[in-house]
Amino acid sequence: MKIKKIDHLGIAVNGIDDACTFWRDILGLPLEGTETVTTQKVTTAFMPVGESEVELLESTAPDGPVAKFIESKGQGVHHVAFRVENIEEALAELKAKGVRLIDETPRIGAGGAKIAFLHPKATGGVLVELCEREGH
Ligand code: ZN
Repeated sequence: MKIKKIDHLGIAVNGIDDACTFWRDILGLPLEGTETVTTQKVTTAFMPVGESEVELLESTAPDGPVAKFIESKGQGVHHVAFRVENIEEALAELKAKGVRLIDETPRIGAGGAKIAFLHPKATGGVLVELCEREGH
């Protein structure tokens, strides 16, 4: 498997508008727009930082995964996403190595990227996302 870079850091927030006070207004990161992924009950906002991005995650429903995360852990770092060259190949390799996966096959995330999550129990507590997409 070839990991190319850290694609983005996912950060769970109560509200993207409020979070922008820090990430956009104070740090000066550009907000590239928001997108709602209905299957995941989440609205995401991508903010480019050099070769990577910050992804703010706001739940659209009280029973969504991000809402549940905030309920148990509070706002903060939610996941780290690695850009891979070939996500199907990466998942097959991880499976062969006995790594527990949340997504056995990739699904479509924000921006049309192919994404898949590894189980935090297999990674020492870090929710790891793999993603494959075009672009820099
Ligand atoms: Zn992500």
